[in-house]
Amino acid sequence: MVMSTRPVLLLAVLLAWISSHGALAALPPEIHHGIDLSLDPATGNMKVRDTFQWAGRGPIKFRLAGWLKVTRASIDGQNREIRQQDGYWYVPGNGPPGREVTLTISGGLPPLNDQPGARAGNAGFSGRAGSYLPMAEPWIAYVDVPWIRFRLQVSVPAAYRAVATGRLISEETRDGRYTATFEADYPTEYPTVFAGEYVVNELMSDGVRLRTYFPERSVSLAEEYLRQAAAYIAQYSRRIGAYPYTEFHVIAAPIPVGLGFPGATYVSARILHLPFMRGRSLAHEIMHNWWGNAVGIDFMNGNWAEGLTTYLADYALAETQGPDAAREMRLRWLQSFAAVPPELDVPVLRFVSKTHDRAQAIGYSKVAFIFHMLRREIGDAAFDSGLREFWRANKFRIAGWRDLRAAFEKSAGSDLRWFFEQWINERGAPKVSLESAARTTENGQHLIAFELDQGGRVFRAHVPIVIETASGEVRKSVTMTARRQAFRIPVPSGAVSLRVDPDFNIFRLLLSGEAPTVFRDITLSSATVVAVPSKDKRVATTAAAIGHALLERDMTVISEPGQRAKDRPLLFIGTTSEYDAWRKLEGPGDAPDILARGTGRAWTQPAPNHPGMLIITANSAADLASLARLLPHYRHQSFLVFEGHKVIEKGVWQVTEGPLAYRFQE
Ligand SMILES: [Zn+2]
Repeated sequence: MVMSTRPVLLLAVLLAWISSHGALAALPPEIHHGIDLSLDPATGNMKVRDTFQWAGRGPIKFRLAGWLKVTRASIDGQNREIRQQDGYWYVPGNGPPGREVTLTISGGLPPLNDQPGARAGNAGFSGRAGSYLPMAEPWIAYVDVPWIRFRLQVSVPAAYRAVATGRLISEETRDGRYTATFEADYPTEYPTVFAGEYVVNELMSDGVRLRTYFPERSVSLAEEYLRQAAAYIAQYSRRIGAYPYTEFHVIAAPIPVGLGFPGATYVSARILHLPFMRGRSLAHEIMHNWWGNAVGIDFMNGNWAEGLTTYLADYALAETQGPDAAREMRLRWLQSFAAVPPELDVPVLRFVSKTHDRAQAIGYSKVAFIFHMLRREIGDAAFDSGLREFWRANKFRIAGWRDLRAAFEKSAGSDLRWFFEQWINERGAPKVSLESAARTTENGQHLIAFELDQGGRVFRAHVPIVIETASGEVRKSVTMTARRQAFRIPVPSGAVSLRVDPDFNIFRLLLSGEAPTVFRDITLSSATVVAVPSKDKRVATTAAAIGHALLERDMTVISEPGQRAKDRPLLFIGTTSEYDAWRKLEGPGDAPDILARGTGRAWTQPAPNHPGMLIITANSAADLASLARLLPHYRHQSFLVFEGHKVIEKGVWQVTEGPLAYRFQE
């Protein structure tokens, strides 16, 4: 799946600025650019007139993409000489601040396939399939300041439509040209322009202009995108504060990307039809308009925006599906962090952007989890008012963790220094283990006594405890402030079991054997054996195809339980009656409940002293064929139930036994 990546030029600019000027507080006022762009997408030929005020007294110095050149420069209306040196363009000479510079720039945008970096969205390209002029590759005079204001007029042949970041002021088609004007009268990143043979659809929603720029063949998707975008914008505006821009555009891209821009997202045309794209992915990119676009990121002190966006968009969507989906997402965050080797772990403060999976485990998973813990620490109401406070104080500014802490301390009315220092400045996570557990009584009161250990460095953590008793569940939380601590919790009589953080609400290192078995545990193992007992050729062929799709390698296939090596994971594929027969040969035991549900199902079955089984059954050969296509997309699940082609139930098992669960002897 294509994930969102954000151009990193802003970072480079910020670093350059900070290294030469010191603190962020000293950021310069934004320069205003007046831009007149004429572009022919078919040939890539473009011409730009860029006018801006120069704040300094010295020579004018700026950068431009390598495929552009300055053909003319003037200062206050007087033509001037131009020089090029060490990757910079110069207009020499001194003068008072506020001189008006006008540059004429021209060149040819490279074709898509010739441009290294184009497929990642970091380089401009042009062609009939689409043109892209990203802010990441300077196509107007790029001075080393992170944000500017601009007014931009773009003109293309009438067969095309062009769209830019900024407010749409006007548009018209005349004399064979389409011309549109955009304005950013607020501080924002340098403009990005998109053009193509687009069909434009529009929906006005609460004063925000929503548009899709799709190729003809995708137009049927437009209405759903507009409706979804309107719903997300309304929902997020209510929660955080009014949407900061006047437009939101979904623009189809001829490259495999999902990129976010102020007031726009640029998404691969090939994947527009996927429900994920107009669901979670669209929600994520819209949320970035608050975090990352209108509130900029103080990269020197860590990128907080990815984790916050993930928490408020992706995770909030999981929450609307129910507690199981939310729990599963938290578990997946912990699993991704558990995969980071300790020597490569870094504090959140060091996360800048997603360059590899490890960075993602920290910048997305850990940071999102930190916001989850913060919300539990201060409560939903204080969390949401802290978000609104942070937004109010930092809209159209660049902000860092310090500003987040200030906003949440204000809303919570408490000192959160310990929380932010522990989770942001320090690396690692506690490794909580259950060292002992016992039932006892004191003065007639039943108690559960247990000891927890958190491994190396000491974190302050509120650890949820769930005790199952004859008269119901007791939920409590204990606070760890030392490496090893003993706790006692009063309970009604008849405690049956004790579980430590069973719903994964604290950020910690998972213990081995703690996570429930999911499909991937069986399909990733190179030792897995495939059981296909069917004598029916249609069933056997479909089963083999499913096996190949899941394992993605050569398989060892058996047809009878007797051929099975007991120490290897097993993948069973067949009809429901074939599974019943197999199960009876394996030994006594009840049929699992799941067998009675839907027309097909898949589930993992932990077995004592066995590395685990993944069982896939369907009521008939046709039902088995129905589930074959979707099954490989659900590798993180413990169970799935299908009704024909449709998934009607899915989830991850609750672990009732394991290193953090204790069952008392009768
Ligand atoms: Zn993102």
